[in-house]
Amino acid sequence: MSGRTPVVGVLALQGDVREHAAALRACGAEVALVRRPEELAAVDGLVLPGGESTTIDKLLRRFGLMEPLRARIADGLPVYGSCAGMILLADRIADGTADQQTVGGLDVLVRRNAFGRQVDSFEEQLHAPALGAGPDDPPMTAVFIRAPWVEEVGPGVEVLATVSTGPAAGRIAAVRQGALMATAFHPEISSDVRVHRAFLRSLAAAIADRAATGATSPAHP
Ligand code: GLN
Repeated sequence: MSGRTPVVGVLALQGDVREHAAALRACGAEVALVRRPEELAAVDGLVLPGGESTTIDKLLRRFGLMEPLRARIADGLPVYGSCAGMILLADRIADGTADQQTVGGLDVLVRRNAFGRQVDSFEEQLHAPALGAGPDDPPMTAVFIRAPWVEEVGPGVEVLATVSTGPAAGRIAAVRQGALMATAFHPEISSDVRVHRAFLRSLAAAIADRAATGATSPAHP
């Protein structure tokens, strides 16, 4: 692993793939689009974009990616999910469709379209120190579009940001558990790349940990 630039995958089945790829590249990352199991095997981290979680679920299964992705997450693959991506990372969902599956990995209950009961889309100025928006920094513009919220978190889950104003004040908008990170909002459609930078930092830390324990990634034995 040493000396090689990590490759960050963006799951490219549906949703705002280009926007995530552009945000990651703006942070200096090497990006690869992932549609096939071989492509998944070759990345060091993965972004699950926003879009429609039911569609992405179906395509993951159809493209034979669901089980390989679950296996890589169990093996410690750093993954960041935004909006629909957050739904896909959740172990448990509410208001899913009857046959909807998730990839899982995050010990949370996520409710689909939760904010949408009040208002379909809105913007919030968030403070989230772990995402580079501490009390002395400019707040982060967070765009919510038919967004889910995190309704319950397991003991190993760190809450990174909550909504501060309006009828949904106090609702959880960003979480992290080990190498997994998720936001209910879409940082990729603002010009603020602090969430992507935070993900790249956790990816670098995960790679350093692996190197220290002598483990290698499946794609680079
Ligand atoms: N409501 C969508 C879903 O359930 C998520 C919306 C989004 O990603 N902007 O997948």
